[in-house]
Amino acid sequence: MIACMGRIVPSTDADVSTISQSLDLQGSFESGGIMGVAGKDFGGLYSVKPLALIKPSGTEDIARVVKAAARTSHLTVAARGNGHSINGQAMAAGGLVIDMRSTEENHFKLLTIDDSPYIDVSGGALWEDVLKRCVSMFRLAPRSWTDYLSLTVGGTLSNAGVSGQAFRYGPQTSNVTELEVVTGKGEITVCSETQNSELFFGALGGLGQFGIITRARVKLQPAPDMVRWIRLVYSEFEEFTRDAEFLVTREEAESFDYVEGFVFSNSDDPINGWPSVPLDPDHEFNPVHIPQSAGSVLYCLEVALHYCHTDHPSTIQTAVSGLLERLGFVRRLKFQVNVSYMEFLLRVKRVEEHAKANGIWDSPHPWLNIFLSKSSIVDFDRTVFRKMLKDGVGGPMLIYPLLRSKWDDRTSVVLPEGEIFYIVALLRFVHKGPSVEKLVAQNHEIVKWCNKEGLDFKLYLPHYQSREDWKRHFGKQWSRFVERKFSFDPMAILAPGQKIFKRAHTNLN
Ligand code: FAD
Repeated sequence: MIACMGRIVPSTDADVSTISQSLDLQGSFESGGIMGVAGKDFGGLYSVKPLALIKPSGTEDIARVVKAAARTSHLTVAARGNGHSINGQAMAAGGLVIDMRSTEENHFKLLTIDDSPYIDVSGGALWEDVLKRCVSMFRLAPRSWTDYLSLTVGGTLSNAGVSGQAFRYGPQTSNVTELEVVTGKGEITVCSETQNSELFFGALGGLGQFGIITRARVKLQPAPDMVRWIRLVYSEFEEFTRDAEFLVTREEAESFDYVEGFVFSNSDDPINGWPSVPLDPDHEFNPVHIPQSAGSVLYCLEVALHYCHTDHPSTIQTAVSGLLERLGFVRRLKFQVNVSYMEFLLRVKRVEEHAKANGIWDSPHPWLNIFLSKSSIVDFDRTVFRKMLKDGVGGPMLIYPLLRSKWDDRTSVVLPEGEIFYIVALLRFVHKGPSVEKLVAQNHEIVKWCNKEGLDFKLYLPHYQSREDWKRHFGKQWSRFVERKFSFDPMAILAPGQKIFKRAHTNLN
């Protein structure tokens, strides 16, 4: 059986030369001081030294790397997507890091299956590039997104991939029909719902534990031209959640195409407060309209409706008004703009550019993401948002509902019980103020409080240090997760940065 966690066996110079000579790669092998970002990630909380960074040219190279690691007694292999993890999940201390971005151009191919369009893409492709290529070449686009698109296909599929379209189409893991995977045995395997299905569902949301996703087949739909993007302010949490849940449970023709939400501080704080809400610099948030009954925080429902250039403006206006009239937001605190579909999907790119210009994009990001059952959300708001986080987190505090029936229980993702659950994302940017340690401690305090109160929740993009915590996280899915590990990566070579399993010492030869 595979044990969890454990001591890292130091690697030697002999390892480097033996491995690099045996690989016979089409791509490159780097060791020593030139490995750049291989030991860092977006979180900025962890830093480790890998043995080598490999830039494969394709699937065969990746299989060779995994097989070479399997011939040793201790080497591990981490696929690195774009390194946008928070807690070192894409790292390999003393191991081999595979830079998946070097394969990003591979596999790109449009297919039609049973009259429906699909795109084959590399696991190392950025979603941003998938979007741009699909829209410009075919006027088609994937259906389910993440908010930020400089993430790789393999990186988000290994977690779930969630944004404001997931209430309708499910997460990104519900929008792929076939994968090519290099398992922990170095085998190249094509899998789908009907072919090698255990590997297919295991790899989706599998935290990189069962194989390296080298190709994914993604469902497409016609890309709209334009988006009406709207923000609606609420002072009462119950009204905000009632309307959000109303929208995500309506039929497609009777709702928006995107539904998200966020909590903001009831203050003039430029990052966490009123100025963070308007969508256009010319729009003003006038606090005079905030109801007297409002508390320390306010809520914003963010919705969007797709449309085409050929739609008459009055048609869009009628559709939007018809949807808005049933909602209970503060009437004078409504903000809206029309933007192109690409501009809308790339909206966080602008935030990134701005944050880079201000020098805060590269600061540490002690983020916390939680899936929380509908039954627990009011308690969470009362204690966490309104008390613990009433001054904000230095960045967005997202909260929006998702529907469990749009997720496939056969994948490795674990969710709270009940049909409606919320994603809560505390996207902290460390400006001035509390130290990173204090913010990490506050995250722990929140999780501890959720446990103490018996809230029904699961961490998204989970990060744990002990076997007991991982077992608790997976709950009744733990034995299936361990069995899959034993089948597809029996020596626990893959994704050591998740700290779930300890590298087994058995040599395959
Ligand atoms: P990495 O961080 O490089 O890797 C993540 C894990 O997946 C590692 O364990 C790695 O070994 C493994 N892995 C990487 N590539 C592969 C592969 N090809 N095959 C198998 N395993 C692999 N998530 C959402 O769901 N919705 C959002 O809206 C969202 N917004 C974000 C915004 C920002 C600014 C950031 C930094 C993150 C956001 N995320 C979001 C989280 C994001 O989905 C995860 O952090 C994801 O893992 C990052 O993708 P990556 O390509 O950088 O993966």
